[in-house]
Amino acid sequence: MEASKPPEFAIDVSDAISAPEAFGASFDAAPLAEALELGEGLEGDPAVAFRRTLGMFATGVTVLTTRAGEQVHGMTANAFMSVSLRPPLVLISIDRRAKMGALLHEGTHFGVSVLEAKQTGLSDRFAGRVADELPEATFEIVHETPLVEGALAHLVARVVRSYWGGDHSLFLGQVEFARYGEGRPLLFHGGRYERLIEDPRVFSLLPRELLDPILALGEERTYAEGELVMRRGEEGCDLLLIVEGSVRIERPGFSMERGAGELVGEIEVLDPGEGRTADVEALEPLRAITVTRERLLSALEADPRAAVALIEVLASRFRETA
Ligand code: FAD
Repeated sequence: MEASKPPEFAIDVSDAISAPEAFGASFDAAPLAEALELGEGLEGDPAVAFRRTLGMFATGVTVLTTRAGEQVHGMTANAFMSVSLRPPLVLISIDRRAKMGALLHEGTHFGVSVLEAKQTGLSDRFAGRVADELPEATFEIVHETPLVEGALAHLVARVVRSYWGGDHSLFLGQVEFARYGEGRPLLFHGGRYERLIEDPRVFSLLPRELLDPILALGEERTYAEGELVMRRGEEGCDLLLIVEGSVRIERPGFSMERGAGELVGEIEVLDPGEGRTADVEALEPLRAITVTRERLLSALEADPRAAVALIEVLASRFRETA
């Protein structure tokens, strides 16, 4: 069945695919193998290489929803982007074969539900993937538009423009409703789901009898209020245990506080070359014990039980993201 097209499509998109000259010389009709140069070492099907290259761009995952009469239609999409703050605009890119594209026209409302880290099942459901036990979705209606309940953030937008996008159609939506909650997003990267690591602790999870001998090798240091204890980008060459006072850990888009009894720099001390990911500032006069990487490694060498426990913690972290 021919998908009905938004009125802005001055040219029939199916004609445009087969006759791209209608769009001028900028759209090359050559087969992908000729149109796209692959970098060194990339061989085989250019479409696969192109797809994999695009897959390096990590995104969140959304479920787009709209109403078709009394029915709700949803589809999973990661081709969603913010466009403008004033006016509030977003853009989605829909495969021309998808049912969703046929349902969107100028003036139609669509919902965007940004999925939370544990909602891989909902993503699979709305991508039409087949699996034994996919969760049921429930919807709430806002601005007469269905939104997936339990998502991390929601937007309702009205289609104001649509554009030809090769084998996809682009829909620009003016946002009429927005809200977000607490939580972590589901990510999509390299063709698979990913999650942000929820818990940056490593050494803190070691049993006390294994951790204490490591901390015993540290030296006490004090810091004045406002002093930078660790600086973003510098080599992460020590681990710090806060004995008294508190610190703020800060990088763009992220801020948290840590207090007495907590460790800072746990991952970086194991991987110092990558540099510290955040600034750490003393929020008040601070007393801390710092253990250098050198001493820490010698403690692990001295007690293989600590090294094994550490590997177990790291393996569980890996499992968390896999
Ligand atoms: P269908 O294939 O008919 O529906 C999709 C699925 O949702 C079906 O299983 C259907 O049963 C279910 N469903 C629909 N409505 C409801 C409802 N009310 N209640 C319960 N289930 C319902 N494609 C793009 O075009 N653009 C993208 O940006 C994009 N990003 C993607 C990102 C990811 C991570 C994944 C996994 C897929 C992505 N896709 C994208 C592919 C897209 O999700 C699928 O091709 C999808 O099947 C297209 O949906 P459709 O509109 O054709 O409808």
